[in-house]
Amino acid sequence: MNGYRIAVIPGDGIGGEVTAPTVDVLRHLADLAGFEIAFDQLDWSCARYQETGAMMPADGLDQIREHDAILLGAVGWPGVPDHVSLWGLLIPIRRRFQQYVNLRPISVMPGLPGPLSAPGEVDFVVVRENVEGEYSEIGGRFASGTPQEMAVQEAVFTRAGVTRVVDYAFDLASTRRGHVTSATKSNGIVHTMPFWDEIVRERAERHPRVEWRQEHIDALAAKLVLQPSSFDVIVGSNLFGDILSDLAAAVAGSIGIAPSANLNPEGEFPSMFEPVHGSAPDIAGKGIANPIGALWSASMMLDHLGEKDSAAALLGAIRTTLAAAEVRTPDLGGTATTTDFAAAVQEAISL
Ligand code: ATP
Ligand code: MG
Repeated sequence: MNGYRIAVIPGDGIGGEVTAPTVDVLRHLADLAGFEIAFDQLDWSCARYQETGAMMPADGLDQIREHDAILLGAVGWPGVPDHVSLWGLLIPIRRRFQQYVNLRPISVMPGLPGPLSAPGEVDFVVVRENVEGEYSEIGGRFASGTPQEMAVQEAVFTRAGVTRVVDYAFDLASTRRGHVTSATKSNGIVHTMPFWDEIVRERAERHPRVEWRQEHIDALAAKLVLQPSSFDVIVGSNLFGDILSDLAAAVAGSIGIAPSANLNPEGEFPSMFEPVHGSAPDIAGKGIANPIGALWSASMMLDHLGEKDSAAALLGAIRTTLAAAEVRTPDLGGTATTTDFAAAVQEAISL
């Protein structure tokens, strides 16, 4: 029997409210499908930071490096600066565990009130480079207090780093509808972006069955809103991928449903799965958070672990429950609680 050990980091605010029922649903699926799954709950969070001065223990990463995957709720809380939760938890996990692919599937779910007029046809994935590029610490402020004051921020793109994420995008496209769109801006950014384009072109030659095109990020952003059904896999740098993923989540209708995966595709280190939304202090403690983002992320986790049937069954149950439109959380116009919705999904699972 396959067995998995999952590190669960509920985090702050609604993070715990959406991960708890997600763990229940995963246990239920394991029973149905016949695999073993064990969870270790970790209190790493802004609440922990406020008590102890650290988001996680000093040896935190060593504690979870042997786990099969990490399930995260949300971290962040008013009064704790974003850079503390980012650099004290999320970025160290992404970097140490070489989670160089950030994957965000976008699909317009049945019957959701999204801003788009063409539901059902929108089904694409944003592949974001997750460890290098524009988000670097290289640079600085110079000549402060003088009229020549300036700030310099270096972007670092490595051949190995670009190649592996672009290859991931092409491989993924070959399992889907066979099309890659590369986000670029080589008409304005004259060193790193032509380098990115050159590597994309080279890797494309190795995937002759996958079609591809490149688009400037500005035009691509517009097209994502106007013709979202024309995309299959979109690959972008750390900054471009970040922007496109949030835009894409909005296109899909609600931030509460968007999932994400931070992948170490080789499986040398654990990958991390988390809903796109934050800790939502405005609704925290009320039990009304939409758990779809967390549940869908759990489906991506099962897929990554190789439990493909269970992954598909969970995603199918989410769709069925939404389509029935009887049980919905308030963000989607309903009156159901987080646990009501998760229970309805659990009931709809058929394997
Ligand atoms: P972060 O900085 O961590 O991204 P944020 O403050 O930008 O956090 P969220 O915490 O995601 O964003 O909250 C944005 C809005 O979306 C809030 O009004 C929140 O209540 C709502 N929201 C977020 N997640 C959910 C959810 N799962 N269900 C319902 N509403 C949600
Ligand atoms: Mg935010």
